[in-house]
Amino acid sequence: MLDRHVAVLCYASVMGARRKTTLKIVEKPDANASTLAFERGKGITGNENEDLLCGGCATILGRGVSQETLGMKFKVPAQLLIQCWKCKKHNRLNAITGN
Ligand SMILES: [Zn+2]
Repeated sequence: MLDRHVAVLCYASVMGARRKTTLKIVEKPDANASTLAFERGKGITGNENEDLLCGGCATILGRGVSQETLGMKFKVPAQLLIQCWKCKKHNRLNAITGN
């Protein structure tokens, strides 16, 4: 499983294809939601082949990072949100929730 994932990433980078994922806006975050907020231009960076874009204004909030990675990095009890520093909207990440 892991080997296959790495192989796909390598192939994609050779092809120059970078996946751009536009996140979904959450108008009313859950009361127990966890929110990641960054200063302007200081989003999350990584070396994966995916960019995460704000669903409100298309600002890149995560460069080279996938939702799966963030979900594993930030284990939260409920919603995992990332707040856009530009339009201030809350973007939902497909996080792994639960205990
Ligand atoms: Zn935005």
